[in-house]
Amino acid sequence: MAKKQDCLFCKIAKGKIPVKKVKDSDNFFAILDANPVAKGHTLVIPKKHLVTLLDIPNTLGSELLKSRKKSRCFSCGMNCGNLFLF
Ligand SMILES: [Zn+2]
Repeated sequence: MAKKQDCLFCKIAKGKIPVKKVKDSDNFFAILDANPVAKGHTLVIPKKHLVTLLDIPNTLGSELLKSRKKSRCFSCGMNCGNLFLF
């Protein structure tokens, strides 16, 4: 995994690489994937450099889970099984 100074997502979070954010909060932002595997493939990225999902502090994990629960699928418009959290 990339070191913080080399991390693409940290560069995006700091505005060094311009992107169109579809959602932005104090701790996370979301962007459409550059190589989507499905319509609306969206990446939710923590603003703090974290290597794995297990590195997310419980408080941020809770925010991420709440965000996931509010998400809607681009295909069916529902909170269906096409929404994944990695
Ligand atoms: Zn990072």
